Amino acid sequence: MQLDQALQLLRQSGHDLPAGEKGSEAWLQALIDSLVDMSSRDALTGLANRRSFELALAREIDRVARAGEPALLLALDIDHFKRVNDTHGHASGDLVLKAAATALLDCVRPMDLVARVGGEEFAIVMPNCPANFGEAVAERVRRRIEAMPVAIGLSQQIHVSVSVGGAFAPQWVRSSPTLWIERADLQLYRAKAEGRNRVCLEPAAVSVVSAEEKALLFGISQFQDIE
Ligand code: GH3
Ligand code: MG
Ligand code: MG
Repeated sequence: MQLDQALQLLRQSGHDLPAGEKGSEAWLQALIDSLVDMSSRDALTGLANRRSFELALAREIDRVARAGEPALLLALDIDHFKRVNDTHGHASGDLVLKAAATALLDCVRPMDLVARVGGEEFAIVMPNCPANFGEAVAERVRRRIEAMPVAIGLSQQIHVSVSVGGAFAPQWVRSSPTLWIERADLQLYRAKAEGRNRVCLEPAAVSVVSAEEKALLFGISQFQDIE
């Protein structure tokens, strides 16, 4: 019964049904692969969803702590998106979200992860990202969205803009996804407050380590035995 439901969900979400003999090991593996793929993607845009975004962030924090590679998190939010829905309808809003998703994918490297993390909110995780490269990509994204016409109906086009906030993961430090997201969001709020359609990045060189992050690095339990 649940198997039939799984197949129905896959069909609905546009996935190919597993090939081969139903119930065989290969068929079940293909089914599991498709279900994993479906549960890690956002249904509207096909981008990574919030769940896979958080997994990618945790993986990246691990790498930054071990190898000290610079990594950038961008938080993006479409400006005045409610107006798009109110003026042109929810379906047109959906077209804008899909077009924005395609534009974002077009601006990044294959190793970067682009996710839809909320209604009109996106995030990009950029491993191995030097400061000047990160700034260039964030600005490229902003300009690409600004210049992108979205066709709604037969003869109408609309334009939107995006605000972008970004923060680098503190190198050689084990931070947490929540703290990293908070940093990027803080810059996003700054971009909104300063007038929208702009990029605000936390300065990369400043290595501010919060008390919480220090506790994560030195793990209180690690030293408890000594005392
Ligand atoms: P700001 O510039 O401050 O970000 O303003 P905003 O209007 O973009 O922000 P607000 O949070 O007020 O509105 C977000 C809107 O996004 C409200 C909600 O109805 C819409 N929304 C959320 N998810 C979807 C979706 O999947 N499709 C469509 N069409 N609209 C959505
Ligand atoms: Mg928003
Ligand atoms: Mg918005």
